[in-house]
Amino acid sequence: MPKVLGLKCKECAEEYPTSPIHVCEYCFGPLEVQYDYPEIGKTISRETIQAGPPSMWRYHDLLPLDGEPTAGLQAGYTPLIRAERLGELLGHKDLWIKNDAVNCPTMSFKDRVVAVALSKAKEFGYDTVACASTGNLTNSVAAQAAQAGLKAFIFIPDNLERSKVVGTLVYGATVLAVQGVYDDVNRLASEVAGKYKWGFANVNLRPFYGDGSKTFGHEIAEQLGWRAPQHIVSPIGGGSLITKIWKGMWELHQFGLLDGPLDTKMYAAQATNCNPVTLAIKTNNDMIRPQRPNTIAKSIAIGNPADGYYAVQAAKKTGGWGEDVSEEEIIEAIKMLASTEGIFTETAGGVTVGVAKKLIEQGRIPRDETTVIAITGNGLKTIEPIEDCIGETVPIQASLASLEEALF
Ligand SMILES: *Cc1c(COP(=O)(O)O)cnc(C)c1O
Ligand SMILES: [Zn+2]
Repeated sequence: MPKVLGLKCKECAEEYPTSPIHVCEYCFGPLEVQYDYPEIGKTISRETIQAGPPSMWRYHDLLPLDGEPTAGLQAGYTPLIRAERLGELLGHKDLWIKNDAVNCPTMSFKDRVVAVALSKAKEFGYDTVACASTGNLTNSVAAQAAQAGLKAFIFIPDNLERSKVVGTLVYGATVLAVQGVYDDVNRLASEVAGKYKWGFANVNLRPFYGDGSKTFGHEIAEQLGWRAPQHIVSPIGGGSLITKIWKGMWELHQFGLLDGPLDTKMYAAQATNCNPVTLAIKTNNDMIRPQRPNTIAKSIAIGNPADGYYAVQAAKKTGGWGEDVSEEEIIEAIKMLASTEGIFTETAGGVTVGVAKKLIEQGRIPRDETTVIAITGNGLKTIEPIEDCIGETVPIQASLASLEEALF
């Protein structure tokens, strides 16, 4: 039995057949994959999931493919770590890190969404894929396209971190560095997607792409012993991830696979220098006011987020909140996570940890309730903003005397 019924508009509920489209013809609302949950529910169980591979594909039943995956086979099933030392520092007794800084193959949570998008691109018969990216998507599309034997055209803002550019070109992708910020890149990509027969991961394949993020939520619940945490702090770029983490847990709850209730509060984390979503939450405004981003957290520097409205709703409807942090706080948080947990996250992770710290201090996240911080990218990709803030190496000669002189 096919488990996907088709696509459906999130706003007016108009239905469409499964195809590479992402916007409703009637109301311009975003389209979402519709699953046949009663049918899936007949066979899915903790056992069938645990019998699957140690990757996000253990959740294949809840992903929108007709056949087996053909891209990103190793993505997902990243560690969920009990963060005792960070918790001690922040005065929190039940803190966890979901660590997608070590996702495979390109060290960010984007490996999940791209695995689904490119597998679906192949099912649709594309031989060329593309994306508009703030950096991590770039790396992941280029790497997974290379492995899947697809041509790749990548659109990036021309001020991207050097390691993200190198970590794209190396796979042989064509990289187009567009003058402007992500929102300019995205506008161009939509135009290109209308003209060429390319599978754009986050444009015409967006409904499928987005569902890859559900596995971040599925895995958190499974790794906590089949229960939902009380609080999750998620970074916000385009606003998709936060909604899909919740949806992943909701699916497991619907199937009766979780012990206890689903009462997870979702918290949106942004940089103050690009905070359209958290500002809307804090000022109790449903409308997103577009901004011109200017932050070191480039992977989440989206001034006019496609799913911003839904991200605001995810925080509000679950009883969560939104907070943002300064550039200095981002750097401090990166160092704090590294020195307590041995995890080097990129600037977006600094945002999440910094915001979690604030929310705990504000009393919004109680100090004894299960709390998961989403770490979505790797620090080796964004060394520029922190390299001058972490001290210097100690130069010595190759002698014991020189060592002791330097140290004591
Ligand atoms: C893309 C990205 C995000 C944001 O995801 P959205 O679904 O666009 O909100 C968060 N963290 C990192 C590291 C990213 O690359
Ligand atoms: Zn519609």
